[in-house]
Amino acid sequence: MTSHTPVSDQLFDRARTLMPGGVNSPVRAFGSVGGTPKFMVSAQGPYLTDADGRQYVDLVCSWGPALLGHAHPAVLEAVHAAVDRGLSFGASTPDEANLAAIVKERVSAVERIRMVSTGTEATMTAVRLARGFTGRNLIVKFAGCYHGHLDGLLASAGSGLATMALPGSAGVTEAAAAETLVLPYNDLDALEAAFAAHGDKIAAVITEAAPANMGVVTPNEGFNAGLSRITREHGALLILDEVLTGFRTGYAGYWGLSGRQEGWVPDLLTFGKVIGGGMPTAALGGRADVMDYLAPLGPVYQAGTLSGNPVAMAAGVATLTHATPEVYSYVDTRSTELSTALSAALDAAGVDHSIQRAGNLFSVAFGTSANGVHNYADAQAQEVFRYAPFFHSMLESGVYLPPSVFEAWFLSSAHDDAAMNRILDALPAAAKAAAE
Ligand code: PLP
Repeated sequence: MTSHTPVSDQLFDRARTLMPGGVNSPVRAFGSVGGTPKFMVSAQGPYLTDADGRQYVDLVCSWGPALLGHAHPAVLEAVHAAVDRGLSFGASTPDEANLAAIVKERVSAVERIRMVSTGTEATMTAVRLARGFTGRNLIVKFAGCYHGHLDGLLASAGSGLATMALPGSAGVTEAAAAETLVLPYNDLDALEAAFAAHGDKIAAVITEAAPANMGVVTPNEGFNAGLSRITREHGALLILDEVLTGFRTGYAGYWGLSGRQEGWVPDLLTFGKVIGGGMPTAALGGRADVMDYLAPLGPVYQAGTLSGNPVAMAAGVATLTHATPEVYSYVDTRSTELSTALSAALDAAGVDHSIQRAGNLFSVAFGTSANGVHNYADAQAQEVFRYAPFFHSMLESGVYLPPSVFEAWFLSSAHDDAAMNRILDALPAAAKAAAE
């Protein structure tokens, strides 16, 4: 069986005449791995089915949201019930507060929350709010961290920009770029130096709770705590971006795995992906005194026609209700099982690599065993060319991986023995392909 399937080819040819690159989000175009993207027509549990009727074990999980697997019966039931009541009311609904209460109960750093529709909107609003609250303009971000496609945070942004080897995006004004300081990840000295030079102008430091858009990078011991301490010393805010890690790496997100025990609390957090269970919902939350700077209470404006959409809220409530501690320990176990098997297969094929981990998120970085990957420069220095043959071999074997080495692998509570066995069986041939 080849990895090029006729119906997907036809659909891609048509899509390319209608949409830039034939896609609505760049990494879907398979640019860095080559070949024709698969067009998916349905998803169930750990599986995706393409337009040619071929089934794949899914290790993308919609780029994170499908923690419970696709089409989880309880989530579908809640969505169907919500749809029957109407799609959007443009007014407040009971489930907005239900989802807010669930988030607040799980993540004690969240005293107030606002629902938005995408992760980009959440970080964009958090940045505006930090500026409005502090009266300062500069934002610090770390190279390789992705926070969505807002102008000011697209410099050295990881994710699709890493995949396409772009330093930033055209169309971002110099003025917008000049208000962002980009520092190397895992380097508190660089942050101290930035605050020494510009401290009274820095509104916020934004960081991924654990980076997963330059491949996965483990925060050094004490790094996030250091960000909290330094921002506090200088009257700036810490924005912890948990769009990807939130409710995926643990019951209370990555902060719940680390920061809460270490005794530091972010000022603002952003969520997306799992919080909407596959529907377009994201959120920002945090300190009440900061959050209350948002309109209608405060002077920082933010709004959304579809914010708190009732169908999306129903999906979020059902998803988080079923994302129990047992779900997280199951996904953690599967993640360890898969990453161990991946490493063993690459070792057997003689492929130098490191497995990058943060909670149950992991990715592979080729040619990096000597030092691992601690920042964006390390990630970019890896042997990227090994990923395309690895990816296509897995695809041939019916396993759908992220089409870029700079993305995390996502598992779900629906990845049962049958799905895992298909992945494990596919690894040796893919490792050999990566060796060549
Ligand atoms: N922040 C992080 C850490 C992300 O991984 C992403 C998306 O992958 C975003 C923000 C942006 O979210 P969205 O794609 O929903 O705009």
